[in-house]
Amino acid sequence: MNHADRASLRHEELAERLLWLINLRWLTIVFIILAYLTVTLIFNLGIETLPLLIIVIVIALYNAVFYLYIKSKKTSIAATAGDIAFIQSILDIIALTAFIHFTSGIENPFVFYFIFHTIITSSLLPKNRGFMQAFLICMLIGLLALLEYLEIIPHHEITGFLITGFYKNPIYVTVIYFTFASTILISTFISASISENLAKKEIELKKVSKDLEETSLKILEKDRLKSEYVMMVAHDIKSPLSSILSMLDVVIEGFAGSGMDDKARDILVRVRYKTNNLHHYVKDLLDLSRIRSSQKLNLERFNIRDVIDGAQEFAISKGGDKHIDLKVDVPDKITIIADKEQIRYVFINLLANAFKYTPDGGKVWVTVRPTADTISVEVGDTGIGIPKDDIPKIFSEFFRASNVETTTKGTGLGLALVKHIIERHNGRIWIMSEIGKGTIFKFVLPIKQ
Ligand code: ADP
Repeated sequence: MNHADRASLRHEELAERLLWLINLRWLTIVFIILAYLTVTLIFNLGIETLPLLIIVIVIALYNAVFYLYIKSKKTSIAATAGDIAFIQSILDIIALTAFIHFTSGIENPFVFYFIFHTIITSSLLPKNRGFMQAFLICMLIGLLALLEYLEIIPHHEITGFLITGFYKNPIYVTVIYFTFASTILISTFISASISENLAKKEIELKKVSKDLEETSLKILEKDRLKSEYVMMVAHDIKSPLSSILSMLDVVIEGFAGSGMDDKARDILVRVRYKTNNLHHYVKDLLDLSRIRSSQKLNLERFNIRDVIDGAQEFAISKGGDKHIDLKVDVPDKITIIADKEQIRYVFINLLANAFKYTPDGGKVWVTVRPTADTISVEVGDTGIGIPKDDIPKIFSEFFRASNVETTTKGTGLGLALVKHIIERHNGRIWIMSEIGKGTIFKFVLPIKQ
């Protein structure tokens, strides 16, 4: 992954990574102070205090400067974040080398702590910069060991720590140095490769999710076009069907003349029944397509009781001459903001179903209970119920339960649309039913959208 790709990471994300490095540096300072106190007070080793103090103060100073700089530029830091992290890392390397120099140089086992530095920074920086800093570490520590060995610079030892003088032993210095340098370079290579791989995967993932988003938009658009097409066809079929039905009425009722025998009349009655079913089917299909393809809700404030009263009359008229005890328990003054026509459709469908699937003498009820920002609605009946296995499929398009008699008219489209409408209004609908005992539909609807 190149530098430009890294720079494309989100601003805050990069600023956060820089802040994380800064916090880590504060922790390092605390660690150095604690280590110094432990070594001098508990183990009674002798360390030169002044140089260490100066190093700690320098680290704290540049850390504070970077902190203030990043805070002041938080939103415009992305382009330079990589450079800032790189400069910080170079300063750290110099400070840590100085620290090692004043604490026994190559003899100090803490020299291997550089590995944490390389792992952290090479996973944040681009690969070439990770290697640049690894080489710089190897060069500085190599130079330090060499200059101390040649006594060009003084060797500052921790007194009481080791039998000193190892820094003058060429085999010791060479072995330790090569172990150190190879550890640093290998760890840089591993962490840079891992982070490069992760970054590539992240970019691929982003691309895949973008493609998915585009595909789903295309599918939605196709679905909308399909609904519009179905709507057009259903609309074109509906008008001639209505005309055929009224002409059949005219002929069957004898207004077109009485010269028709019983057999022909009987056939025409059956034709009217089938045509009527087809008419219902086309009407449901038309409703479904129209509501599904409509892009937005037609929001208005209305009284829920008025809508239920209207729907109830319609449903009763559809229920034929059955005697069904209907109870409506809806407070008068509840108004909601929603698509009135669609909510009316919901009540018509649920009530018409309750009447349709409840035998003569049964009960149907509607209750509405308001809460602070929703209404809870229940439409129940003591009808035929729905078999347990069919309940999960009941809201699917064209699904009809297995206990419904073939003579009961229906298309299996109404409930699919009811669920669609409730969910478009950010509501939730569910069902409880027991075969032979009855069915209750419950839904919750926000009082405004
Ligand atoms: P339909 O036109 O067949 O009534 P719906 O989508 O409105 O289509 O309902 C789907 C199926 O759900 C129905 O065929 C019926 O099996 C079942 N159903 C719906 N409401 C009830 C109810 N109140 N009681 C029993 N079964 C019901």
